[in-house]
Amino acid sequence: MAALTGVSGHRPCIDLHTHSAASDGTDPPAGLVAAARAAGVDVLAITDHDTTAGWDAAAAALPAGMLLVRGAEFSCISPTGRAERPVSVHMLGYLFDPAHHAIVAEQSRLREERVRRLVRITEKMAADGYPIAVEDVFALVPPGTSAGRPHLARALVAAGVVGSVSEAFVTLLHNRSPYYVPKADTPVTTAIEMINAAGGVAVFAHPLARRRGRVVEPSVIVDLVPAGLVGVEVDHPDHTPEDRILLRRLATEHGLVATGSSDYHGTNKTTALCAESTPQTALDELVGRTSGVPVLAG
Ligand code: AMP
Ligand code: FE
Ligand code: FE
Ligand code: ZN
Repeated sequence: MAALTGVSGHRPCIDLHTHSAASDGTDPPAGLVAAARAAGVDVLAITDHDTTAGWDAAAAALPAGMLLVRGAEFSCISPTGRAERPVSVHMLGYLFDPAHHAIVAEQSRLREERVRRLVRITEKMAADGYPIAVEDVFALVPPGTSAGRPHLARALVAAGVVGSVSEAFVTLLHNRSPYYVPKADTPVTTAIEMINAAGGVAVFAHPLARRRGRVVEPSVIVDLVPAGLVGVEVDHPDHTPEDRILLRRLATEHGLVATGSSDYHGTNKTTALCAESTPQTALDELVGRTSGVPVLAG
């Protein structure tokens, strides 16, 4: 890829992890692209949870001078590297063929799992007297999109139970809450193999985001390299400076591409687009290892 100059004349911003309203972001895909333009993003990846439903609308909205990396964030389950039960992790897949049969089937299964589990969480809360109904939550999930706890969080805000989405997570929706219900996520090696088989590249999303609960030992990341893991998200809002140092060293030692991204979710989170960015050399390495769909130029 030719050297980027930066749409605003500044250091280029390459934001490789963002969510639209096709999953649990609040901007429709075209609105995400417009917000990215306004924020000075040069290269935007759309990475909704377990869906590629936003790809076409984002591509259609791409302005001249901006590049679009089409991707998704896959819900996975992984050993932690300790003697304890597995943990939920996220795998970013970029530039894979969205029609690949295994991906179509697994994303569809996961979206159904998401609905099933969101219904159960809502029912448990309603049974405990919270003024919330399944219909209230799913009124906020447009057809064809990927449901998640942030939709329930918004319904709880609308019902006056909490003041904000983040308060909903801190008080009621976090992973150790009595209302938490797990979903049957994809084994992480299966997800990596699927992404590779579809011509894409796999990057381990926020592997040390401890704020969300348990995280994997660094050795687990290294063990995924033979399965086809290509990169690791180093600069992420939920990583401490120490986590970033550790992950950057690990990436260097094991030939993993180190990325940085905002994990923007619109108004469901406070992080701004371009809050973190990926170096162009890292993007070039990722793109060089794909054969699925191209990076789109506006
Ligand atoms: P789910 O996909 O249903 O398991 O819900 C997880 C999603 O909830 C994450 O992808 C984030 O978008 C969101 N989330 C997790 N923790 C928080 C938090 N503390 N504040 C706001 N959103 C959060
Ligand atoms: Fe999310
Ligand atoms: Fe994530
Ligand atoms: Zn994300």
